[in-house]
Amino acid sequence: MDHFEPLQKDLETYLSPEQIDQIHQAYLVAEEAHKDQKRQSGEPYITHPVAVAQILAGLRLDPQGIMAALMHDVIEDSLIDKFALAKQFGQEVADLVDGVSKLDQLKFENRQEAQAQSFRKMLLAMVKDIRVILIKLADRLHNMRTLGACVPEKRRRVARETLEIYAPIANRLGMNNFYIEFEDRGFEMLYPMRYHVIKASVKKAKGNRKEIITQIKQALKEALTKRGIPYISILGRKKHLYSIYRKMEQKHISFSEIMDVYGFRIVVEDIDTCYRTLGVIHQLYKPVLDRFKDYIAIPKINSYQSIHTTLFGPYGVPIEIQIRTKEMHEVADTGIAAHWLYKTPGQSPDQAQFKARQWLQNLMEIQESTKSPIEFIENVKNNLFPHEVYVFTPKGDIFELPANATAVDFAYAIHTDIGNTCIAVKINRRVAPLSTQLHNGQTVEVITAPGARPSPSWLNFVATSRARANIRDYIKSQRRSESIQFGKELLDKTLASFNAVFDQFSDVRKENIIKRLHFKSWNDLLEAIGLGNQLPIVVARHLLEHLKEEEAHELVRSSRKEPILIKGSHGMVVAFATCCQPIPGDPIIGVFNPGKGLEIHASQCVHIAKLCKNPDSCIDVQWEENIKGEFQVDVTVEVINEKGVLAKLANAIALAESNIDDIRVDPHEGRYNIIKLTISVHNRDHLAQVLRRIRTLDVVNRVSRFH
Ligand code: MN
Repeated sequence: MDHFEPLQKDLETYLSPEQIDQIHQAYLVAEEAHKDQKRQSGEPYITHPVAVAQILAGLRLDPQGIMAALMHDVIEDSLIDKFALAKQFGQEVADLVDGVSKLDQLKFENRQEAQAQSFRKMLLAMVKDIRVILIKLADRLHNMRTLGACVPEKRRRVARETLEIYAPIANRLGMNNFYIEFEDRGFEMLYPMRYHVIKASVKKAKGNRKEIITQIKQALKEALTKRGIPYISILGRKKHLYSIYRKMEQKHISFSEIMDVYGFRIVVEDIDTCYRTLGVIHQLYKPVLDRFKDYIAIPKINSYQSIHTTLFGPYGVPIEIQIRTKEMHEVADTGIAAHWLYKTPGQSPDQAQFKARQWLQNLMEIQESTKSPIEFIENVKNNLFPHEVYVFTPKGDIFELPANATAVDFAYAIHTDIGNTCIAVKINRRVAPLSTQLHNGQTVEVITAPGARPSPSWLNFVATSRARANIRDYIKSQRRSESIQFGKELLDKTLASFNAVFDQFSDVRKENIIKRLHFKSWNDLLEAIGLGNQLPIVVARHLLEHLKEEEAHELVRSSRKEPILIKGSHGMVVAFATCCQPIPGDPIIGVFNPGKGLEIHASQCVHIAKLCKNPDSCIDVQWEENIKGEFQVDVTVEVINEKGVLAKLANAIALAESNIDDIRVDPHEGRYNIIKLTISVHNRDHLAQVLRRIRTLDVVNRVSRFH
């Protein structure tokens, strides 16, 4: 039996014989792929894709979309792959089929109900071509129509998924016909008893209402005709069953209250007539205050347009009226699909795609209007919803993140503590670096370690403000505790030079000093010392108030004989000056740099004289013994201008177990070139070894440490 025939009839209404011929080829591929399969109902499987294609032909979808609909289950159910499809039907059709197959791989089954919204968004986000969603919705619609053949458990599961996922998507895309059918069929399958009770009640109420509906319709027609206003149709409007049920459930409105409202829809030629119609019916029946809505001037988010008004009808019954044009009516029924209508054969798919995209952007525009215009334009530049990415936790919870979010953003999205202690992630069970950008549908597991800490370098790649704020907070508090500790160390050393110990001072005295120096607590004061904002000698003087100025000065000088020890792994409050690049072994001096802490300079640094004009702002420091670590230092090399010089230089440095971190060449006219290198060394001895190696090269004329 030829299952293609009914579809062919539908296609003939808007496509050329050549196009239908092409579609028939797709049909043959699908028929072959599903030849041994049967539907739950016992019918051959091919009837399903054909029915899906028929639903879409009803929306006048373009030939590529119809072909993809026919083959939407082919990749899943046969050995035919995307490449084979691309070869026979072109990349576009192959991409569409592939897109639908990918959506099928996402299973909602085990997700929590509260996550439905994220799941919907994820579905939409995964779609690069909106036709994939149209095919998926048509597929689901046909499955709902034939769901009766399945076992009750599957019926309930599919029905719930349809109500939670697919009906809202159809609604969001403005596809009202799909939306209503999804909801009513989902309702019937999920709660068959309630469905039938409401259905019977509606039927009964309809009988009682018939007379009054006819009366109102007649009155509307007469009023419009009398005023010479042309209309296309005036129809009584009925609510779909699930919406009645939902209203009763959620808003606790009784059935009779819902049914007591009479709805009519007036369709007219143009917008001007819409408003004139409104004027006439407001004179016919008195409008209810505050119930007038002009969705023509301000369309709904899904681009729905109509005028809504509520009137006091005969016997005081409320009448709800919708007034709209034919085009608005079309959009209200089929939404985004209305823009996919296959109109002229010459119209390229790109144009259709463009129109649909414009429509979606229109949706987004309204939703995004709260954000900044720049951000919005950024978003629009992308395709559909690519500014969001949806990923799963190992338990199946969904997290929505901005498109360029990384594993660290994800970790902070779960919990601040997870973010603060994360050390690596597993993406789809494979270990990946924390800076990895995430993609839709990935399952991400964060690996934490108890002592782990956020790194300031994360600020270079995180995308969420949440992660950024948390990392900054952490660094700040870390910096504070380091500063306090360092401040205490500095104060203790200073006091020691006066033969004093911090603990010998009374709390009252300490309190006085805090007040006098305008601090809130000792820790604040110590932090200020550590950060270089408050000189330790000044605090020491306040503590030792009975001492005279000269004596204090004398003692300060002696205090320099007990220098602060500088470790190689510098914390956040000790920094090494970049002007002189001190390395272990160099004589050094500490300079308080307000706000930044202690800066370590080489004693020979050209800036020292200026920096230490006020002796209080400088402090004696010394390297700790046996410092391990890498220190950067600049070196200038004068070389002969010939080929292979850099290689020789690099080799010599490597042989001396050093690294080149940066290299700059000042090209010179003559025989020599000046090369400036930044290399890392452990200490002065190491540097000497490196310089020796360089100096022995025949191409090198001169080498010196760069100050
Ligand atoms: Mn299917």
